[in-house]
Amino acid sequence: MRLHSIETGHFKLDGGAMFGVVPKTIWQKTNPADSNNLIDMAMRCLLIEDGNRLTLVDTGIGNKQSEKFFSHYFLHGDDSLDNSLASLGFHRDDVTDVLLTHLHFDHCGGAIEYDHSKGQFLPAFKNATYWSNERHWAWATQPNPREKASFLSENIKPIQESGQLKFVERTADICSSGLGFDLVFVDGHTDSMMLPLVSYKGRKVCFMADLLPSIGHIPLAYVMGYDTRPLITIEEKARFLSQAAAEQFVLIYEHDPLNECSTVVQTEKGIRCGDVFRLSEI
Ligand SMILES: [Zn+2]
Repeated sequence: MRLHSIETGHFKLDGGAMFGVVPKTIWQKTNPADSNNLIDMAMRCLLIEDGNRLTLVDTGIGNKQSEKFFSHYFLHGDDSLDNSLASLGFHRDDVTDVLLTHLHFDHCGGAIEYDHSKGQFLPAFKNATYWSNERHWAWATQPNPREKASFLSENIKPIQESGQLKFVERTADICSSGLGFDLVFVDGHTDSMMLPLVSYKGRKVCFMADLLPSIGHIPLAYVMGYDTRPLITIEEKARFLSQAAAEQFVLIYEHDPLNECSTVVQTEKGIRCGDVFRLSEI
């Protein structure tokens, strides 16, 4: 098995919304804000090369939204999903499985593209099975008012209509995906988000999605304002991070603009960042 980090470009979000109750005087030390109070965010995906299976975890924001929509998110950077795949010798048609941690647009926008010749939204990975889970799918397709702006129907409906959608079964909060790695299910950010937990080179590697979007979010109370159940996020972080510190897990950060991976360590003040490195270094 080989794991690769796939950069799909950067965007910006409100720094206050990204840090919930934490004051700017503190969060700006790790995540500096621009003059609009926006902070830089990566949309980093994970590619899992395992025998004949090529699994992409999340897809970035994609390119099919309107100019007005994109104007709110200040897309920037030189990376794209296709270029990142090409630099590893892959094409999007080689992808056999697309696992969507959850269906917020910055994670699944790239799963669907607009086909101008056919005038319809179609899967951007035409040979892939798309994986979600039943609970999250129900949650996203009947969205609550708070998350409604994050669950865009053009990202979600065409996956189902394509016939390429399958659900992994949540038999426990940590269970096998059936794709060669485990999944950690968490419910604080949104209902039934999935974090791939992969055994790799003698270590456990976890793709943190929005449980821990950046290194700046490691302290327990540093929870996004976007989270639907912040106290549950804190419990989930406490449980996961104590295991991650004890077993030296490698954590991959989807949204950290600078830092790809780190370990965490237990200190007198609680869990803090350990070594910082790139995925290619392990
Ligand atoms: Zn996100």
